[in-house]
Amino acid sequence: MKYALVTGGSRGLGRAVCLKLSQMGIPVIINYQSNKEAAEQVRDIILANGGDAVLMQFNVADQSQVNAALQAWEGEHPDDYIAYLVNNAGIRKDNVMFMMPDSDWHSVMDVTVNGFFYVTKYLLPKMMMRKHGGRIVNMTSLSGLKGMPGQTNYSAAKAALIGATKALAQEAAARNVTVNAVAPGFIETDMTKDLPQDELKKLVPMKRFGKPEEVADLVGFLCSDQASYITGEVISINGGLY
Ligand code: NAP
Repeated sequence: MKYALVTGGSRGLGRAVCLKLSQMGIPVIINYQSNKEAAEQVRDIILANGGDAVLMQFNVADQSQVNAALQAWEGEHPDDYIAYLVNNAGIRKDNVMFMMPDSDWHSVMDVTVNGFFYVTKYLLPKMMMRKHGGRIVNMTSLSGLKGMPGQTNYSAAKAALIGATKALAQEAAARNVTVNAVAPGFIETDMTKDLPQDELKKLVPMKRFGKPEEVADLVGFLCSDQASYITGEVISINGGLY
């Protein structure tokens, strides 16, 4: 069986991605950090719809937790492998740089960049060894493409993820592993609920925030057979806001 692992699958974009991949017939591993109840809700929806889902708690920024959780899963699933990895877990700690606490710089880099590295490093060799390869989708952001004031930590982390996507795509291509990034603009989730939506909507040519399901459809496409020759791409999904 080929499983999908979605980091930060308990809420927001990750939740929508878990539901989408399950609709595509893929068994899903729902990673979360602390919100077990939300993760259980995602699992229960998938199970109620006849899909297959399990929870996996770990902090992506803690390599020993990542390795221990994935090793335990492999021990229980000797005939299965994780063929789809969506590196979605992320946090925002916005501030202008001259006032930014060091810890807010490090935590955003840790979750986004080191989290990507720890989870992907563990799973990549196993994907590359398999005949059917694998799919890696990294959740970056418009902020990583254009840079956003008040987000030097977040923009730097998301830009790093774009560089890593392009480099890793070339390393893994010959082994049939595609590596792409998705760059959303403003999407309606917990992460954006404290933002002044009415003001920000005016900046978006489509005059609205995106929905998690719209991003999940794009991730689903990148994980599908139809996207087998797409790799190293960064695909924006932002209602025309560049
Ligand atoms: P969200 O609603 O705040 O959800 C964040 C998810 O990440 C939760 O499932 C959370 O788990 C998980 N998470 C956070 N830190 C983690 C860690 N250290 N280890 C494991 N899981 C962790 O955020 P979202 O809006 O869905 O964002 C998802 C991704 O899209 C992020 O990478 C974000 O940067 C990116 N993005 C979002 C937008 C947007 O407008 N929303 C735009 C561009 C990019 P718990 O439930 O356990 O806390």
